[in-house]
Amino acid sequence: MNKPMPAHPFATSPLLRVEGLVKHFPVKRGILGRTQGAVRAVDGVDFALAPGETLGVVGESGCGKSTLGRLVLRLIEPTAGHIWFNGADLGALDAQALRAQRRAMQIIFQDPYSSLNPRMTVGQTLGEPLLLHGLAEGRRRERVAELLKTVGLAPEHALRYPHEFSGGQRQRIGIARALAVEPKLVVCDEAVSALDVSVQAQVVNLLQDLQQTFGLAYIFIAHDLAVVKHIADRVAVMYLGRIVEIADKRALYAAPRHPYTQALLSAIPSPQPRTARQRISLAGDVPSPLAPPPGCHFHTRCPHARPLCAQSTPVLAAEGGHGVACHYWREIEVPLALRKGAGGAPANPRLAKLQSAFAARTGAPA
Ligand code: SF4
Repeated sequence: MNKPMPAHPFATSPLLRVEGLVKHFPVKRGILGRTQGAVRAVDGVDFALAPGETLGVVGESGCGKSTLGRLVLRLIEPTAGHIWFNGADLGALDAQALRAQRRAMQIIFQDPYSSLNPRMTVGQTLGEPLLLHGLAEGRRRERVAELLKTVGLAPEHALRYPHEFSGGQRQRIGIARALAVEPKLVVCDEAVSALDVSVQAQVVNLLQDLQQTFGLAYIFIAHDLAVVKHIADRVAVMYLGRIVEIADKRALYAAPRHPYTQALLSAIPSPQPRTARQRISLAGDVPSPLAPPPGCHFHTRCPHARPLCAQSTPVLAAEGGHGVACHYWREIEVPLALRKGAGGAPANPRLAKLQSAFAARTGAPA
């Protein structure tokens, strides 16, 4: 099991702490539905999150990042492990106390259209959580108008249906719904992945504004490392259900220590062909989470693997807040191409577009 990671250095006490979190989904086959194994979606995850902090969670499809987000919110029950939120052990709470804690934890989904009920007006959608949690009695309509204004929409939009909005506007409605119950933590599960790049920048900027105004903490789950670099304070990289590297974003993008992180960062598209040729190719496909390789899960694809890697699981060793789960991370050099880019990361047109949208809005360097 990994070593517990400290919260971000600016935290006096973490808002969220996760220890030894495991989720295995049993696989049943045949008419009798006999259990034939388990998908090890999350396989021993530890981290902490400070109030007002953004933790980016990245990794390939199937690495367990979305399952991790749902576990934190207790939308699914963990197989093992503990989650402390706001000082309470969520696993030890009765249904009523858990419901009260859940109010402070919300989620924004990837597809804003399918997450909204097409038969409900926006006003009804935003009023529903208020009703459920007994909030804003007698002034529900004003609260809905307030929420719409907060996310850059007009109060009269409350009377419209989801199909009358663009993708970016629908995601704003999803954000307003999450904000309705005044949460402390929002899990953004691929929240901008389905949007055009220019709309992504607007929604990311909105999320940052809301974070400053309301002191929100985010777990920002994404596969786009450029977007994560823009919004996150720290980044956790997942591979086959485990965090393999976690660090302050500047440290991670400037000097990725885990071979998997190095490969992911080297795959960010670059306008410079010379840099693009430095891409680190990984052998083979991601193994099945039904039967992950023993020892270090990454050893079947790692260019630095040695015999010990298949026998022993590396712990997430932290040094100066930078955690790496690799037996040989001190010996593995950061490839030159990854060290050279602006702020340590390769130049990237997607990131440049996001950064210029941010700079145009604030007048500050991104
Ligand atoms: Fe590669 Fe071995 Fe490190 Fe795993 S422990 S990342 S296989 S060098």
